[in-house]
Amino acid sequence: MNAPVATHFREIPYNYTSADDERVVRILLGDDAWQRLHALRDRRVTGRSAKHLLRFVGDLFLVRRNPFVYQDLVASRSRRKAFLAQARLELDTVDAHAQADADVDVVLARCREAWQDLARELGWAGLRQARIRVALGAVVGPDNVAFDPFTLTAHATDATDWRLHLPLCVAFPTRESQVAPLLAAIARLKLKAIPRGAATGLTGGCVPLAADCVMVNTERLDAIRGIAQVQDAGPDGAPRTVSLLEVEAGVITEDAIRYAEHRHHVFATDPTSAWACTIGGNIAENAGGKTAVLWGTCIDNLWSYRIALPTGARREVRRVGHPLATRAGGPGWRDELQPWLDRAEVVTF
Ligand SMILES: Cc1cc2nc3c(=O)[nH]c(=O)nc-3n(C[C@H](O)[C@H](O)[C@H](O)COP(=O)(O)OP(=O)(O)OC[C@H]3O[C@@H](n4cnc5c(N)ncnc54)[C@H](O)[C@@H]3O)c2cc1C
Repeated sequence: MNAPVATHFREIPYNYTSADDERVVRILLGDDAWQRLHALRDRRVTGRSAKHLLRFVGDLFLVRRNPFVYQDLVASRSRRKAFLAQARLELDTVDAHAQADADVDVVLARCREAWQDLARELGWAGLRQARIRVALGAVVGPDNVAFDPFTLTAHATDATDWRLHLPLCVAFPTRESQVAPLLAAIARLKLKAIPRGAATGLTGGCVPLAADCVMVNTERLDAIRGIAQVQDAGPDGAPRTVSLLEVEAGVITEDAIRYAEHRHHVFATDPTSAWACTIGGNIAENAGGKTAVLWGTCIDNLWSYRIALPTGARREVRRVGHPLATRAGGPGWRDELQPWLDRAEVVTF
């Protein structure tokens, strides 16, 4: 019953997402319902029942995808009742006109389950949000946990513009030390955490693929701690002095570039999105840029990073015997770059 059906129908009303009818029905009603609904397509006579059914699915999808409507139904019991009554009426109308048909019976049963799930969820959502705010707010402060529709909409996608689920909420840590306990608190709530820098990513890395994701927005972790000179042994064991720029994950890449430049160093990770993207996103995506041919990509210039795991454990990852961008360019590259090297020293972060 789960074999894929090659279609891209878009008959469901109010669906302005990247999902076609198949995707929407599979998400809301399950794989089985999609197969049966698809089989029913060829047996339509007037199409009236299909219209009611698709309107029901569209209504449900809209509530789940539009945080303004969702929050409104959470906040207003009377509007919630009116909406649910209207949705049930659509199903009752289909039921009243249905001939005896196993496919129709199953699809209607799935629709009624989905209706009940949504009714239950909307009834509890206010309390659930309050509990999440208390749990995550204990780490980052209640004002730094957002459920408002504007924030949720702004965190629904990245530069791919791919949209499936909205985040459940968005947390804004303001100190690096909050990140590990925040992730642990999210895990205790059995929710999923998605780190997010500036969302300029082109891989969909911070697009929620499930309904229970908490977005961890790092934009307030924007401290640049300065350039330090560190004594180290190179890959050949010879002692050397390395210039390190220490930054927090949410620092905008261009700010790091400017900071290094003003101190006569080169910060060598320069994606075209540098004016917006963050260091955390650069590391996660191993970003490269215009000078990648000279200096390599992000990882070639990354000395170490601290990371919090989903369990709340912390790790520090440090590259041993770092070649310091000498991987780039191949033999003789240093001669070609000498004029550059005379003017500036590459800073590693
Ligand atoms: C106009 C434009 C130009 C671009 N040019 C380039 C280019 O020249 N070179 C290039 O390589 N890319 C480029 N990109 C892609 C993108 O900008 C880079 O991948 C950038 O590194 C993403 O950074 P971000 O802060 O926006 O990350 P986000 O998009 O927010 O996140 C990207 C991924 O990193 C993860 N992540 C973010 N922060 C953290 C963190 N603190 N800890 C753990 N994981 C984290 C996210 O979960 C996600 O998986 C471009 C994109 C655009 C829109």
